Amino acid sequence: MSDHLTQMRRRRTFAIISHPDAGKTTLTEKLLLFGGAIQMAGSVKGRKAARHATSDWMALEKERGISVTSSVMQFPYEDCIVNLLDTPGHADFGEDTYRVLTAVDSALMVIDCAKGVEERTIKLMEVCRLRDTPIMSFINKLDREGRSPIELLDEVESVLKIQCAPITWPIGMGSRLKGVYHLISGEVHLYEPGRNFTRQDSTIFASLDDPGLAERIGADMLRELRDELELVEGASHPFDLDEYLAGRLAPVFFGSAVNNFGVQPLLDFFVAHAPAPQARATTTRQVQPEEEKMSGFVFKIQANMDPMHRDRVAFMRICSGRFEAGMKSFHVRSGKEMKLANALTFMASDREIVAEAYPGDVIGIHNHGTISIGDTFSEGEALSFTGIPNFAPELFRRARLKDPLKMKQLQKGLAQLSEEGATQFFKPLMSNDLILGAVGVLQFDVVAYRLKDEYGVECVFEPITVSTARWIHCRDARKLEEFRDKNATNLAIDAAGELVYLAPSRVNLQLTQERWPDVQFAATREHA
Ligand code: GDP
Repeated sequence: MSDHLTQMRRRRTFAIISHPDAGKTTLTEKLLLFGGAIQMAGSVKGRKAARHATSDWMALEKERGISVTSSVMQFPYEDCIVNLLDTPGHADFGEDTYRVLTAVDSALMVIDCAKGVEERTIKLMEVCRLRDTPIMSFINKLDREGRSPIELLDEVESVLKIQCAPITWPIGMGSRLKGVYHLISGEVHLYEPGRNFTRQDSTIFASLDDPGLAERIGADMLRELRDELELVEGASHPFDLDEYLAGRLAPVFFGSAVNNFGVQPLLDFFVAHAPAPQARATTTRQVQPEEEKMSGFVFKIQANMDPMHRDRVAFMRICSGRFEAGMKSFHVRSGKEMKLANALTFMASDREIVAEAYPGDVIGIHNHGTISIGDTFSEGEALSFTGIPNFAPELFRRARLKDPLKMKQLQKGLAQLSEEGATQFFKPLMSNDLILGAVGVLQFDVVAYRLKDEYGVECVFEPITVSTARWIHCRDARKLEEFRDKNATNLAIDAAGELVYLAPSRVNLQLTQERWPDVQFAATREHA
């Protein structure tokens, strides 16, 4: 088997998703520990402040180099190379999360055993369902009193509409937590706070019949467990690999991330069963990871990752072939050849210059404004990966400069920060205003702060009467011109040069749509 295929099949690229505080950061840290990246623990912690409040976010900026780098983490485990993509926790960054989920082959959902399925978990699940992303679930914080495990599975099944196949089952909970039973291997892993780091470090009984087990957990507890397991078998689904891979059945694990308990069974099962890189759709055909020619798409852009270097990095998922440092590749949108030199790889604790990368891997390309989210790179074929949309923002503000002489800087800052995709930047046809659109209100504060910090521009964002945006398309060039003339006051150009209708109200949008039946008003701009 060629090196490319062997390498490709070793890859497991996934995202961790959860409602804030369920334990995503803690679990990420533990997974990295298994990957041998122990020094990471601190930097993952630092990042979590990002979603809580603007002030935290700003303080965090100081640690930016580390925090952002670690949104993509690669580590080896057993025979696999695991690529873990973090998703931003704050609800305002939903779009970003959406795009991260286009770049993975599976997801891991963390649920707090006391809280069950929370609102953000539901939203994330909806996104996963759009692409039938296979999901595993980790029910966390077992060291605390929570809801009954059967009730939790019921809730996941009914609210998230996915079947559950428990792989481990808790023995007790809270102060009575004794361990987990592995339904497939039959092993019992004892819960010993302060230990449980690795298999060697844990007490494991080979089966429920092991005489030592009753001694350790008590005969009553063991009887209770046996009764419960009978119930579980009747009430849940057995693991079925095809159903899991089709996104219809979620293997479920129980544990306590902070105690590193129940994490290794999860990781072992994950590398054994989670999908290797999958085929990806383009406008013309499916691209298979086995193909020899390199291809990939950009799903995230981060400006000023390292304030010392003023760089902008485009994160590209490799979809096929083999990436080699310095290789010439074809940037499909511009139609130009681009030498991909000094691309970065994101090892758990650091970023390094990448020598080679395979399907499933994420590399960082230095971007000087020519690369946008959704762009495809290939070895010459005019491929264009689909499914990476730009959503219409729902909030709009006009940027007002404190120092009018800094107009150029402001434009540059807004344009560059918009490349990241969390905000969108519009220039009206008929005025000199600069309008920023966002999906969440926090983003205006973040942009104002970053403009000052990274571009030296002070500006405030003022309310304006724009309620929604629609990308305009029309097959008939004359009709389009007519539409443009008649509606110039409500039209603007976005950062990619596309024509956008900024509707002052929903009613106005509806009337305008009715008046111009030949014009299409798209709520998302598919990056292409
Ligand atoms: P995130 O918001 O999903 O990233 O959650 P964090 O990983 O930051 O965890 C939120 C809080 O829950 C922190 O205070 C953690 O220390 C705590 N936590 C995480 N895992 C566990 C666990 O297994 N048991 C208990 N008791 N607390 C936990």
